[in-house]
Amino acid sequence: MSVARSILIVGGGPVGLAAAIFGRLSGHNVTLIERGRPPVDKPCGEGLMPSGVRRLSAMGVELDPEGLHSFMGVRYIDGDQVAGASFTFGEGYGCRRTYLQAAMARRAEQLGAALHFGQEVIAVNADRGEVHTADGQTFQAELVLACDGLRSPVRKLLNLDGPPASRPRFGMRQHYTIKPWTDHVEVYWSDTAEAYVTPVGPNRVGVAFLWSGDGERFPGLLSRFPKLQAKLGDAPIESQVRGTGPLQVRPKAVLKGKVALVGDAAGYYDAITGEGLTLGFAQVETVLKHFERHTLQDWPKSHKTLVFEPYLVIWLLLFIERYPALRRRVIVALSQDSVLFEQFLQINDGLMRPQDLPIRGLLRIVWRVVWGVG
Ligand SMILES: Cc1cc2nc3c(=O)[nH]c(=O)nc-3n(C[C@H](O)[C@H](O)[C@H](O)COP(=O)(O)OP(=O)(O)OC[C@H]3O[C@@H](n4cnc5c(N)ncnc54)[C@H](O)[C@@H]3O)c2cc1C
Repeated sequence: MSVARSILIVGGGPVGLAAAIFGRLSGHNVTLIERGRPPVDKPCGEGLMPSGVRRLSAMGVELDPEGLHSFMGVRYIDGDQVAGASFTFGEGYGCRRTYLQAAMARRAEQLGAALHFGQEVIAVNADRGEVHTADGQTFQAELVLACDGLRSPVRKLLNLDGPPASRPRFGMRQHYTIKPWTDHVEVYWSDTAEAYVTPVGPNRVGVAFLWSGDGERFPGLLSRFPKLQAKLGDAPIESQVRGTGPLQVRPKAVLKGKVALVGDAAGYYDAITGEGLTLGFAQVETVLKHFERHTLQDWPKSHKTLVFEPYLVIWLLLFIERYPALRRRVIVALSQDSVLFEQFLQINDGLMRPQDLPIRGLLRIVWRVVWGVG
């Protein structure tokens, strides 16, 4: 165990709570400030990949089965084409955000973290590691972790916001009361949007849309996916529509004085691979290691390394997303090669390096895509 030091966390989403839990497990004094009150919700596809599930279990978080459904892989559906792969390295969890947040908060509290809900951070002094809340309180620590999400107010207060996205993409989700019809996350592709369908409970399915361009509404997006619409039938709607965007965020820096940006606050590319939570948990482990080893100055470099491969996979998917004919050929090729699809899932989950992909497999898929061989 390391020497106990003080950590202040802004944001009680999954990443902030992971920091609180891992911080307490290492024996540090942890204070967390969250502006919302439980259960805190957020637009999310709510799929936690196998590496994220392992980290959650290392935290000792116990999820309520009512908000949970495991999934065994990912399936792409594009018109009549279906390509699927199962995880060979564990299971994923579809977990309703409110249940996840509540379970993580319970664990953090049980470990002795001081959680302050309903308090909003409105000012930051990075050199002193000090934050001020709207109700006039001041908190100070050796390390401040800004885990305050995509639109991070702390990042803005520290003047670390980067340039806007060149091709803004948006996300929106809603839940239906219906028994999940699959134990895979299903990704429906159309020429103008993607639909992510995640089982998030024994009797609940979450539907999240991603698209570029603003001004869309949930029913309009759903009508672009007749197969999905048919599966949902007249299932009752269980939650209000929630949306966000632009999704891409590139801060100027992820460290200033004693403040480190972590999770979505540290930057986000796209939700197309469903890796945000897993990547956020991995960032927490790394930034805490830097803090304990007094190498916080290396956090920006480590952050770049952590996001490089997941961002590469996102870049590839966003590239094929823009060219429908190419996308269809890739999906046909993947439907013929579930082993390669499994390996892509492993890269996406940080369990395999892209350079370790077998060259024969790569040549096979390139051949199939170029010649349109099914
Ligand atoms: C449409 C969509 C689908 C997605 N699908 C998936 C998926 O399937 N799987 C996956 O892993 N990821 C997915 N993601 C990404 C995932 O939701 C995020 O990566 C994840 O929520 C990041 O967690 P976080 O704790 O960093 O931020 P958040 O979850 O946004 O939490 C930030 C917290 O900070 C609090 N806060 C903000 N400002 C202040 C302030 N001033 N003072 C105090 N508190 C403050 C907020 O209230 C919030 O609770 C998706 C994202 C979108 C948009």
